[in-house]
Amino acid sequence: MNAQRESCVTPVLEAQDILVTFGGIQALSGVSLTVGDNEICGLIGPNGAGKTTFLNAVTRLISYQSGTIRVLGKPIDAAKPREVIGLGIARTFQNVGIYGSMTVAENVMLGAHHRLGGRFAKALINPSGTRVQDANVRTRAMEILNELNMAHLADTQADALPYPLQKRMEIARALASEPKILLLDEPAGGLTHGEVDEFGELVDRVRRNHALSILLIEHHMGLVMGLCDRIHVFHLGQNLAHGRPQEIKSNQAVVSAYLGRTG
Ligand code: ATP
Repeated sequence: MNAQRESCVTPVLEAQDILVTFGGIQALSGVSLTVGDNEICGLIGPNGAGKTTFLNAVTRLISYQSGTIRVLGKPIDAAKPREVIGLGIARTFQNVGIYGSMTVAENVMLGAHHRLGGRFAKALINPSGTRVQDANVRTRAMEILNELNMAHLADTQADALPYPLQKRMEIARALASEPKILLLDEPAGGLTHGEVDEFGELVDRVRRNHALSILLIEHHMGLVMGLCDRIHVFHLGQNLAHGRPQEIKSNQAVVSAYLGRTG
């Protein structure tokens, strides 16, 4: 981990001067960020810094008032939320977004639906509809579950999983869409200290196996520092710092922001 990489020269994700306001609140006041090819970038900052708002802007769940976001050099500013996955962007949510009454395998199979057309998803979701038994999709879902050490849970109802495994299942579903960039919003939530190291190794393996770029929001600093090639720090809706983990650890502005001081 912490591969010694040159700084990001081929951005897979490039955001410039993103401004997001909610009523009178500036949640993002012109932030910029890049994630390079096959890179794991951390996005950290104290509560309310704007991290989740940034992911929501990238995935078009909210609009930004100004700025540009590019994926592999192409602007995505006019994309609709449902088009984002087809652009190679997949994400997980801070509060898990799963179909609780469906099995783990079905949830993961849903991740492939943009490649297979909307009818596939409708048939899976609609309990009175025909359950699609697409062998190829099921096989692929099982491969991904196996990679994430969850194959034995394939036929378990999703809402019966403990919270950390629901989060892991979300990653599996995101991978089924074959993204170029994976956005993870606090994926280690609920893990014990001992489980976090194994989780970090899993994320690194996933990055290598899928030739992925990853943007990781996480409050677990040990995980961020051990896993990320570079780290962006937001504070109060602005870029505060950016650099390699060792640089961020010793950055006085970052330390002060986390301690609740501004100077
Ligand atoms: P945390 O680490 O606590 O999850 P964060 O860095 O992800 O925080 P955001 O959730 O992006 O921060 O919030 C940034 C700011 O925008 C906060 O002041 C928050 O209250 C505000 N905000 C976020 N979403 C909305 C919304 N839908 N309506 C109004 N204000 C919002």
